[in-house]
Amino acid sequence: MKKEKIAIVWLRRDLRTHDNPALSAAAESCERVVVLFVIDRRLLEGRFASSPRAAFMFGCLRALDLELKALGGGLCIRSGEPEDVVIGLAQEFEVAEVYWSSDVSRFARRRDQRVTEGLEAIGVRAIPSPGNFCADISLPRTKSGKPFTVFTPFWKAEREMPRRVVVGAPKALRLPEGLDCGELPAHSDLSEYLREPSCEPGEAAARAALDRWIDGPIDSYVELHDRLASATSGLSAWLRWGCISAREAEQRAQDRGGDGAQAFVRQLAWRDFYAHVLLMFPDNLRVEYQQRFRGLEWDDDEQLFSAWCAGQTGYPLVDGAMRQLSMTGWMHNRARMVVGSFLTKDLHIDWRRGELWFERMLLDAEPSQNNGNWQWIASVGVDPAPYFRRLFNPILQQQKFDPDGEYVRRWVPELANVATKQLSQPWLMSEQEQIEAGCVIGRDYPAPIVDHKRERLRAIDRYRAAGGAG
Ligand SMILES: Cc1cc2nc3c(=O)[nH]c(=O)nc-3n(C[C@H](O)[C@H](O)[C@H](O)COP(=O)(O)OP(=O)(O)OC[C@H]3O[C@@H](n4cnc5c(N)ncnc54)[C@H](O)[C@@H]3O)c2cc1C
Repeated sequence: MKKEKIAIVWLRRDLRTHDNPALSAAAESCERVVVLFVIDRRLLEGRFASSPRAAFMFGCLRALDLELKALGGGLCIRSGEPEDVVIGLAQEFEVAEVYWSSDVSRFARRRDQRVTEGLEAIGVRAIPSPGNFCADISLPRTKSGKPFTVFTPFWKAEREMPRRVVVGAPKALRLPEGLDCGELPAHSDLSEYLREPSCEPGEAAARAALDRWIDGPIDSYVELHDRLASATSGLSAWLRWGCISAREAEQRAQDRGGDGAQAFVRQLAWRDFYAHVLLMFPDNLRVEYQQRFRGLEWDDDEQLFSAWCAGQTGYPLVDGAMRQLSMTGWMHNRARMVVGSFLTKDLHIDWRRGELWFERMLLDAEPSQNNGNWQWIASVGVDPAPYFRRLFNPILQQQKFDPDGEYVRRWVPELANVATKQLSQPWLMSEQEQIEAGCVIGRDYPAPIVDHKRERLRAIDRYRAAGGAG
């Protein structure tokens, strides 16, 4: 009897059955498929460790196990370093091929390289594919053959690149005889870390959210995406863990058509852009992309940093956003820009501390995206613009993007009864007004911890001194 071919699909942040090119290629090529996830302590406990995000990931894995069982398979769980585990399993089951979705950080690429070499040494083919992105982000180059460092030309080039056809889940899967799938370790639920988790783990929840989004709200994306109280797609954590594929989201939006869908597709391209950037400039995870800003002077004021983390700065929009983050594991993009600008340019605290805090708290945090965006808002990264253009006034931002105060009142309940016209600068209320609003500044809600006008000028001085003409 002909020996059945066995494949391993090594999942990392592509925790889905639909439109997973690694999984569908393995299912097509081999009769038996081991869908493997390796719990790697280097990542779970490393520099970017996060309890809420780990809980989200384990929730996604639990959901995926059920999806795979419904197809006749199951999720194989192992703990250790993939360099040992993947190769050991490939040897034990005499697999022919190992598939995975390629990734961009230096850590991931070195690990994958070691796994590839180990597999080749035992005669097993390693087959990576670009399944985490809309297109193959390793390919785009400028006319002069360089990696892209500005978004718009990247986007124009990437739009023209070929796209793979979106595929469904495999019809059926079969496990190799004698495979012990192992058990997912007991893990805390997301609700133990977040009072109101922004989303539920797993592919089914992700697909339902994508359906809802494409079915209507996407049409208002252009008008509403900057409004703090209104909903953007909310898909980021699912995209981060690959519970839905970015490529499928892109295709579904294109099929829907219209200005909202086009704008949404463009946002997805930012995700590909930052992945391209980290792939091409791996040092960005440690240092500023723009060398002239590597000597920028930062302050190290723990009290100010703690106030920022806790949402106790006295600036209602900053505080609302930071509390939304710690209660839900998500923050609106406009708010991320405002708090990022505030940390780096009002408090003069190193952007890397903000990046780390976001890594700890965000369900969607992912090194290429988080780093790219932090470098962007600190004006030290790719896609450059004069630093004063990304120096936001938190008062004006609140007036513009939360004009009726819905967002701030939701996340800063102390300010619930403050009149809208005073909500962006509650410290200007008279004593009588404070009493009437039930919010005495300095008692119920902090006075501003810094003066924006003054700190803005200090930031400009520092950036100029570091060599930033604008
Ligand atoms: C300081 C800072 C840090 C950030 N860190 C992260 C992060 O770790 N992970 C992350 O996914 N996003 C990050 N973002 C980008 C952005 O804020 C989120 O992707 C977005 O708020 C997610 O909400 P949504 O899914 O409703 O977005 P939508 O507005 O519905 O956008 C759809 C999708 O497009 C992509 N996207 C949108 N904006 C951006 C952007 N600026 N950069 C890259 N991709 C984008 C995301 O995948 C998003 O889910 C950061 C932004 C800032 C300013």
